[in-house]
Amino acid sequence: MRPCVLKFGGTSLATPERIRAVVAILREAAAERPVVAVASALAGVTDGLLVIAERARRCDKAARRDLASLAERHRAALVALAPGDRAASRAVERELGELAAALEGVTLLRELPAGVRDRLASAGERLSVALLAAALRAAGLSASAFDAADLVATDATFGEAEVDLERTRRSVDGRLVPRLGREIPVVPGFYGAAADGRVRLLGRGASDLTATILGACLQAERVEIWTDVDGVLSADPRLVPEAFTLARLTPALAGELAHFGAKVLHPRAVWPAALAGVPIVVANTGHPGRGRSEIVSAADDRAVRAIATRAGVALLRIAAGARSLGELATSALSVLVAARLPVLLVQQAGSGAELLVAVDGTAGEPGRAVLAGMGLSSEVEERLALVAIVGRELAAPARQLLSSAGVSPRLWSEHGTRGAVAAVAAEALAATARRLHAELVVPGAPDRKAA
Ligand code: ASP
Ligand code: MG
Repeated sequence: MRPCVLKFGGTSLATPERIRAVVAILREAAAERPVVAVASALAGVTDGLLVIAERARRCDKAARRDLASLAERHRAALVALAPGDRAASRAVERELGELAAALEGVTLLRELPAGVRDRLASAGERLSVALLAAALRAAGLSASAFDAADLVATDATFGEAEVDLERTRRSVDGRLVPRLGREIPVVPGFYGAAADGRVRLLGRGASDLTATILGACLQAERVEIWTDVDGVLSADPRLVPEAFTLARLTPALAGELAHFGAKVLHPRAVWPAALAGVPIVVANTGHPGRGRSEIVSAADDRAVRAIATRAGVALLRIAAGARSLGELATSALSVLVAARLPVLLVQQAGSGAELLVAVDGTAGEPGRAVLAGMGLSSEVEERLALVAIVGRELAAPARQLLSSAGVSPRLWSEHGTRGAVAAVAAEALAATARRLHAELVVPGAPDRKAA
């Protein structure tokens, strides 16, 4: 029987009580077919580790205090979940010991090399799999924690490595497949290792990608992404309380919503599953019976309507000067890509005297600087947000709605019949999102579910 891969995000693992809910979900799934669990770090831990690492580099004493409280949180969780589990306690202590030693090194050298940063940041996942495997064993299931460095093969890039699917498939066949059905393998998300054996991160939020990569290698029945919302929603529920679950959508549409800010799924995660023909199901750990979404190539998106929003965006206006638009675009984009600054949207202004490039908010000033280094002059506008509206024939009404609401987009890009994306001032985001949702998404969406 084909296995299922179940991935649990940080909020699903935030407390011992939530970890018990995860155990119940895994127990039920494992009664039906072989399962593999993929775990993120406990909520907030990856951010915490990055702060600690940076503090250690600056010889800030707070690093020790922060590390002690991170250690305490994991020890307390283990005591609550599986007090007698010696193997888990050894694994947790080993990881914490390594973490402390590495941080000492960083403080001594006052340097945080990329390889050390990746290794430190991935510790949260190694700790969480030890806890989850122990919790499963304490509940009478057979389970063991794996190291993703032995399974997920990557290229050599630190911070955001590419996965080598062929090499990963071989490790999965050799190490994971023989365990299927005998126990629940618990695999850390977020990282793998390159051919040199050292850890590489797959990018922030990329535990989803680990899950779909494993799903593809295993030709899984499906990959389930267990999170803290009712599936893929028609909008971010924190901005738009009326947001509802999209029951079925294609990988292309899910990828587009993720690219433009839907947090529910990592934008790169849809493809490994889609290419292998493995469906992705997104469900809510706190309310397993409530809304869930299925992401499959066979879905029909014609009736789907949704918006995606992304706060923290900067806009670079790059002047062409004497260059042709083609030359400008080629050189500007290659400079930004080489500096690994994430480009979100590209558009020419008017006749091509300017190129507009929307980037992540952290990349505005660094982007201006690298462009200047290559002789390209640009201006940065910060504190912007992107709002994407997806749905047939919605571009024109969305444009009209923005103008009647007095919102003038800094950038406006239409995808023919499929929708549009606007860059708007950060302050206008919430009201704009609510209005677009209320007036365009809700009235016309036939697959609306009662929220
Ligand atoms: N823990 C990692 C992060 O915070 C990976 C993930 O949660 O998917 O980015
Ligand atoms: Mg996530």
